[in-house]
Amino acid sequence: MLVPSGIHHVTAIASDPQRNIDFYAGVLGLRLVKRTVNFDDPTTYHFYFGDEIGRPGSLLTFFPWPNAHRGRQGAGQAAVTSFAIVPGSVGFWLERLLKQGIEFEQPVTRFDDERVIALKDPDGLLLELVSHQRVEQCEPPMDLGAEAQVPSMHGIRGMYSVTLWQDGHQQTAELLTGTMGFRLAREQGSIFRYTSDDGRPGSIVDLRIVAGLWPGVMGAGTVHHVAFRATNNETQMSVRSELESGGYNATPALDRDYFKSVYFREPGGVLFEIATDGPGFTIDESAETLGRALKLPAWLEPRRFEIEALLPNIHLPIDLPGPNA
Ligand code: ZN
Repeated sequence: MLVPSGIHHVTAIASDPQRNIDFYAGVLGLRLVKRTVNFDDPTTYHFYFGDEIGRPGSLLTFFPWPNAHRGRQGAGQAAVTSFAIVPGSVGFWLERLLKQGIEFEQPVTRFDDERVIALKDPDGLLLELVSHQRVEQCEPPMDLGAEAQVPSMHGIRGMYSVTLWQDGHQQTAELLTGTMGFRLAREQGSIFRYTSDDGRPGSIVDLRIVAGLWPGVMGAGTVHHVAFRATNNETQMSVRSELESGGYNATPALDRDYFKSVYFREPGGVLFEIATDGPGFTIDESAETLGRALKLPAWLEPRRFEIEALLPNIHLPIDLPGPNA
């Protein structure tokens, strides 16, 4: 069976675009690898943050809607997005978050071997920095050169996991293990951990049972969808047809320029996506200048003038020359 493998990206909703960039490219030190528009609403941005070239598994993306109402975390949501750090960086991050005035909780231990710092982004999105020995073994540090806001050794090394808050978990568990190549790896209290790759960072989905909790409400500070990796178009299509035969209503493969996307809603209510690894973010600009200019899909290029006039001005945390400088 051809199966998808691990997290490709998480997409969430933000309000103020500049505050979003300042937090993710500034405080957390990720790279803005693409500034484009929401293909379904081209008058608003779509930002992609990730590693040097935005490899699948490193990506957190945002729809920053300036007037978005604040959402509410609750059941039926991908409530928590977790980034991987190495064990030697916990102290660095505690100090950095404190200095930057970011609210966080003192580290706690989970599953005996993870140290977890819980924090929120400026819109209230629940995040974690998770340190584990395996991060050191699996994920090399990213090197952003002059763009680096965080020393390379302490930098975030991609996604660690996502946590879905759900009323019950049986049907979602069946989807993960039956169609999507995950297996149950661990259990602790109300958390059931599934992994598609032996617990490697980026391959983890935690189902947290929150029976009786109010339902989540979509808005700023909540996750819009979680995307899982398909190595290529064939894998994506094979997963899609398995989903269809399992009774899921999956979209056709939509061209997102940087990958192709199939969306469907999992039984617990979270919007899932199967996204291809390629072609990636260097398809329309060089690796060196990723994220510095507004990129539009070809079908929107004729409307560039109008779109640029509607989008709010934004800047990166540090001054970098534009692509034509
Ligand atoms: Zn997506």
